[in-house]
This record gives sequence, structure tokens and C-alpha cells, in this order.
Amino acid sequence: GKNGLSGEVEFRNVSFKYPDAAEYILRNVSFTASKGETVAFIGSTGSGKSTLLNLIPRYYDATEGEVLIDGVNVKNYTQQSLRNKLGYVSQKAVLFSGTVISNVAYGDNGKKSSDGAAVKKAVEISQGKEFVEKMEDQYSAAIAQGGTNISGGQKQRLSIARAVFKQPEIYIFDDSFSALDYKTDRVLRSELKKETRDATTLIVAQRIGTIKEADRIVVLEEGEVVGIGTHREL
Ligand code: ATP
Repeated sequence: GKNGLSGEVEFRNVSFKYPDAAEYILRNVSFTASKGETVAFIGSTGSGKSTLLNLIPRYYDATEGEVLIDGVNVKNYTQQSLRNKLGYVSQKAVLFSGTVISNVAYGDNGKKSSDGAAVKKAVEISQGKEFVEKMEDQYSAAIAQGGTNISGGQKQRLSIARAVFKQPEIYIFDDSFSALDYKTDRVLRSELKKETRDATTLIVAQRIGTIKEADRIVVLEEGEVVGIGTHREL
């Protein structure tokens, strides 16, 4: 990331079952995403893509095996230092009652939230500039709890802007582009690519364009890795 640190993500023989569940959702998953790399995860619905990504911020812990960042088990980071490394954009955009600024600078602990230029830039990269600047109060416009006063695609763009604003070492996008039209999706990803060149990006996506551009693709089937390679190789 911008802070000059690293951002390698490695899964080493990771198996996972949800607490109290009998069945394993991930089985012996291994892969490495190097600093600067974009790795896409594909697989049918229920194959375990979101579950896999959830192990990185420790929403759950691996049942067996290890999830490592820069060679260190995620369990050995403090929650704060781990979360600081990650820009996680979930499948469903999470927005709070506040303004565009407070939503984009969320989790910033006031460090940069006064930096309107950084918020603006993150929104611009995320293709939200046009709709935000159309609102009467622009970056101070009110966002309702859950983002109920803006559209699904607008919500996604502000959630992505939050991650961009954070400038993390590792970006995690869990199907975060699904509500965007084809053109917006394409422009956003190209802008994002410039911005996140040094970061590691893990992405679950359905669109073939997104997958094609990844440095590597990990194919999951019922919780198992059945293929790793470039689009060309697979
Ligand atoms: P999709 O493409 O539909 O988002 P996915 O590949 O991301 O699917 P997951 O959401 O990781 O798949 O789900 C994998 C399996 O884990 C499913 O069988 C699902 O029912 C189960 N599962 C997901 N979340 C939980 C949970 N919190 N508790 C128990 N089981 C869960």
C-alpha cells in the first residue's frame, strides 16, 4: 500500500466449518496472493467464496490450517492492526446515518476525515462524483441508515470509496460491483487498478471482464480449490 508495507495473503491448507455445523465449507484451501497482485475467486453459488474472504478479517477463524498476512498468522495481529491493513467491501453495502463524507471516511478515527480532498478523490475513483455532486448538499448530503435514500449501485460506489479512502495494503471485494451497470463497472475497475497498483486485491466477481483482468483465478467447487491459473491457462 501507500504506507510502503507489504500485503501478501496466503492460505495454507485451510479447512473451515461454521461453529456447530457438521459439514466443512472449505477443504484444504491453499493459495498465495502476492503484493500488487489481483486474485479473482470464482465458483458456483455456495461454493465458499464469501466464507473464504471472511477468514481474512477474522469474522471467523480457520478450523484447520493457517491464514497468513506477510507470513504472520492473522490471529497474531491485533484486531486494530489487522483491520487497518484491509479494505473490505462486503456483498451488501454497509452505510450509516450521516453524510457522504462521514460514510466514506468511516473508521478513520478522525485522522483524515477533515480531508475533504481525499474523500472527493476516493468518490471520484469509485465513480460516485457525478451522483454526489448532483445532490444539493453534495459531500455533506445526508445518507440514511442503510443507505435507503440512494440506489443500490450508489451504495456500492460509496462502500468502494470507503475502502479507497483508507488506502489499505489489501483490498477485498466480495461481489462489490454487482449493482453497477456494465460501463460504470468497467471504468471503475480501470480507475481502481491505477489507484491500487501496489496493493493486493482479492475479488469475488461474476463478470467475465473482471475475471479476465485478474493476475490469477482461483476456482472453488464445494469448498475445494479445483483450479488456479490465469484466464488463459484455465
Ligand atoms: P454466493 O456466490 O452465492 O455468494 P459463496 O460461494 O460466496 O456463494 P458462501 O456464502 O461462502 O458461498 O457459502 C458457502 C456455504 O456456507 C453455503 O452452503 C452456505 O449456506 C454456508 N454458510 C454461509 N454462511 C453461513 C453461516 N453464517 N452459518 C452457517 N453456514 C453458512
